[in-house]
Amino acid sequence: MRNAGLGSWPERRRRISPTRDAIWFEGTTTSHAQFAERVRRTAGALAGLGVRPGDRVAWISGNHPSALETLYACGQLGAIWVPVNARLTAPEARYVLGHSGATAVVHGRDHGVLADALRDVVPTWIAAEPPAEGATASLPYEELLADADPEPRDVPVALDDPCLVMYTSGTTGKPKGAVLTHGNMTWNAVNQFMGMDFSQDERTLALAPLFHIGGLNGTVNPALLRGGCAVVVRRFDPAETLQVIEEQRVNSFFAVPTMLDAMSRRPEFRTRDLSALRTIGAAGAPLPLPTLRTWLDRGVTMQQAYGMTEAAPGCTVLDSADAERKVGSAGKPVFFTDLRVVRPDGTDVDVDEVGEVIVSGPNIMAGYWQDPEKTAEVLVDGWYHTGDAGSLDDEGFLYIRDRYKDMIISGGENIYPAEIESALLELPGVVEAAVIGIPDEKWGEVGLAVLVAAPDADRDPEAIRTALRERLAGFKVPRLIEFADELPKTATGKIRKPDLRSHYLEESPA
Ligand code: ATP
Ligand code: MG
Repeated sequence: MRNAGLGSWPERRRRISPTRDAIWFEGTTTSHAQFAERVRRTAGALAGLGVRPGDRVAWISGNHPSALETLYACGQLGAIWVPVNARLTAPEARYVLGHSGATAVVHGRDHGVLADALRDVVPTWIAAEPPAEGATASLPYEELLADADPEPRDVPVALDDPCLVMYTSGTTGKPKGAVLTHGNMTWNAVNQFMGMDFSQDERTLALAPLFHIGGLNGTVNPALLRGGCAVVVRRFDPAETLQVIEEQRVNSFFAVPTMLDAMSRRPEFRTRDLSALRTIGAAGAPLPLPTLRTWLDRGVTMQQAYGMTEAAPGCTVLDSADAERKVGSAGKPVFFTDLRVVRPDGTDVDVDEVGEVIVSGPNIMAGYWQDPEKTAEVLVDGWYHTGDAGSLDDEGFLYIRDRYKDMIISGGENIYPAEIESALLELPGVVEAAVIGIPDEKWGEVGLAVLVAAPDADRDPEAIRTALRERLAGFKVPRLIEFADELPKTATGKIRKPDLRSHYLEESPA
């Protein structure tokens, strides 16, 4: 095989374990041999539509097997896969599709209207499923596959070639297109399945969005490389997910903390059989202690991880053995990845001193798509500068404080909102919490906490401030407390602080 990349994985799996399960979706199981066949046909169909090496093929949908089929098919063609966040508005999707220069898009059943709206940006639209509305001009995916050339392709693909362009969450601004190579995908997968003890029988849940790096590479691609099965769920519903975990005997999955929290609040969390479930990778944001304890109590080990799109994504993991001893830590670097915490002058910090987290290794992106300036800002001498503030303890465990962009400087003190949010979430009646800095004449900035309260909670800012004073130093207690019905979030449940800032800064009488 002249293909060293991800596109070769299904063929190699067909050779080794053709009859084992590869994909489960809404009651249908596909073996590794059947999956390899579908990937070949997808590649044939895309080639038939004119896709050539280096071309970009976008995918926009809720979770569906077509994500994996089109990703691996692009890998067989030497083309570049561009997953697009299914919750983007038409103008946002227009930006990502236009910026990536995609020439074809595979879309889900809920994106027919989007397909009609954006046909001027990308000429070819393919409907992975019959669209609910719109998309009359989209080509039917299953028919294309049925008619496609099923022969294997012999396109040379090297580990350094781009495999996908994945746009970052856009938590801090406009999304950036991280170019991940086939090598990035491979080494991340190895890092992950080593850290999470995957066996060739692994049954992993594809729960978080597959257009996001955690959903795609947290456990799904690692399990497929290892020979296991991806149990694909279309969308996150806490009760339904618990049911699938029981019925499909799921062993592992990746989730963001808000999903784990939502599941643990369901009555089914106590009644469903979770005995097959071994481990959960949680990342994207700090995992609040109460949520961690609820899952540990259910007999599931929690691998708290730290990562980002640019690192494909795994950088560190907190082994379950250390979970209680090192509460709040993101753990140690994964096997093939190195990590330092540095001062602005580039020297390493002392134990417990906060600095910028930088990472290096074979999982770090090649750069940002068509953005040499931003690339040069963050990739310096082989080290990716994360923009995250962190520290290392005397045993080398990493603690992420927060993003530097979110840090509040009040009266000369650095305040990391994540610490305050975590304390707020431990208070009864607080369901969600976000703390931002707002300008203040005397202190430079003061903290504003925006809370979503439980329906029956009393909303008394002073009582909350008093309770916080027992847990936090006085200067960290937010000056202002506001209540909201909901917080603005990204598709993966991260709170969009720029939106909160503009909302509360515009509205503030000052
Ligand atoms: P953008 O770069 O567009 O602003 P984003 O950084 O949220 O968006 P992602 O790549 O999805 O996009 O997220 C990576 C970031 O998530 C990390 O840089 C870090 O700030 C945060 N993060 C990830 N894991 C953890 C964790 N375990 N604890 C705290 N923060 C985390
Ligand atoms: Mg980022």
